[in-house]
Amino acid sequence: MSENSPYDVNVVRKEFPILEKKINGYTLVYLDSAASAQKPRAVIEAQREFESHFHSNIHRGVHTLATQATEAYEGARTKVQIHINASRREEIIFTSGTTDGINLVAGTWGRANLNSGDILVLTRLEHHSNIVPWQILAREKGFSIEVVEINEDGTLSEESLSEKLALKPQLVCVSHLSNTLGTVNDVKKITEEAHAVGAVVLVDGAQAAPHKKIDVQEIGCDFYVASGHKMYGPSGIGFLYGKYDHLDQMPPWRGGGEMIASVSFEEPTTFNAPPYKFEAGTPHLSGVVGLGAAFDWLNSVGLDKVEAHEKALIEYASEKLSEIEGMRLIGTAQNKASVVSFLVEGTHPSDIGTLLDGLGIAVRTGHHCTEPIMTKFCIPGTVRASFAAYSTFAEVDALVSGVNRAANMLR
Ligand code: PMP
Repeated sequence: MSENSPYDVNVVRKEFPILEKKINGYTLVYLDSAASAQKPRAVIEAQREFESHFHSNIHRGVHTLATQATEAYEGARTKVQIHINASRREEIIFTSGTTDGINLVAGTWGRANLNSGDILVLTRLEHHSNIVPWQILAREKGFSIEVVEINEDGTLSEESLSEKLALKPQLVCVSHLSNTLGTVNDVKKITEEAHAVGAVVLVDGAQAAPHKKIDVQEIGCDFYVASGHKMYGPSGIGFLYGKYDHLDQMPPWRGGGEMIASVSFEEPTTFNAPPYKFEAGTPHLSGVVGLGAAFDWLNSVGLDKVEAHEKALIEYASEKLSEIEGMRLIGTAQNKASVVSFLVEGTHPSDIGTLLDGLGIAVRTGHHCTEPIMTKFCIPGTVRASFAAYSTFAEVDALVSGVNRAANMLR
């Protein structure tokens, strides 16, 4: 299959040192980017450069290095703001990732606003990190959780969504892109419908951010969360976008340095303004700088181009995998991106994954932290291949031939 991409994928691949690695004697075929994407040199170098020449604690110092480190850190905040089109840079809070961002919203906005008798709406597509923090809080506060069901193709059931919104929930939490099925949800429409019944909306953008242009003002959501490591940046860093008025009214999250206005034993301690109110302690400084570099890198390739390339890969992979005897694709929404999940009749996903690893092909197997999806399809798990800007059609060919080989050995 010849490469037919809107950019030269081989040039992009050269920027990722790890893609030259051999695994079990084969050149690595990395099809696990939905779990964590690889990093280009620009990101690795930005972190190394910061650690080598600019590291110092931020905000508090008067010395030159502290000023330079602060500029690098706050510069990255502006990059995130511009990239997702937030109206103010104070609306960007650095977190350790999507999980941390959701827990922050649950522990602050959620704890302050959700009470017994209230309703929170989730969908069956959610990752555990957009389920469990809410379940823990629901146990404490006594509100109930309603779940929007999905159709056989992995899209959200519009009927179920309307039914749940008619209950007038206080909060709706929805993923932008399902990490297991690849379904892209129309989060702008869902937000409009949720706002119409008075609900606040949180969008889990962990999977969407590396693949789609995000415009939080156009979506209109109240909160948007994402992780650096899924979008070619460092692990242990991510961001939460929140509308300023919410952030301003939300109680603080973790207590500590930098999140205070004044601390006293005599008077009540007072808190800093957003975003600092939610950034207690010394953050992952080089991670933030690396995240900024990841946004720069992604924009230099062009998100529109990456999206088009990945769409072509998914279509090609779905078509070629479907030719394998006993193939069952899980998640066949028209509007899907980045991942292809499947099962081969008479085989277990983890056996396929292990045999593929023997050929140097990295895929993920299991429930992908979405057990409610597995329950819906009555399956133990899937094999999931996921694509990124550096994935190639030749890698899809390797996957298809590897799955064929593995399935023939296992049946
Ligand atoms: N939501 C979705 C849709 C995800 O795919 C993931 C990661 N698999 C998460 C949330 C959690 O992200 P992190 O582990 O980076 O916090």
